[in-house]
Amino acid sequence: MTIEDMKTEDFYSNLCYYDLRNPRGLKEIIDIYLPDEEDGDIGEHAKKDCSCDNCFYGRTKLAEHIIDLREILKYIIHLKPITN
Ligand SMILES: [Zn+2]
Repeated sequence: MTIEDMKTEDFYSNLCYYDLRNPRGLKEIIDIYLPDEEDGDIGEHAKKDCSCDNCFYGRTKLAEHIIDLREILKYIIHLKPITN
């Protein structure tokens, strides 16, 4: 798969397994088995000091960076040119 073939879901699936935005993450398991996780450990971000496969191999940081860039790009595309 090339980066041109990747869909938004593909980028989100490279986030931390504990990130609730990851469609292939541990959302259901977290709800059932880890209801007492400390506040802030689980949410729309990587788990603190996480060593899941995505965090361990650096995929989480790269996916977060690409998602940020895509948001910036979407914003820029919708800007209208300045006219005098
Ligand atoms: Zn992780």
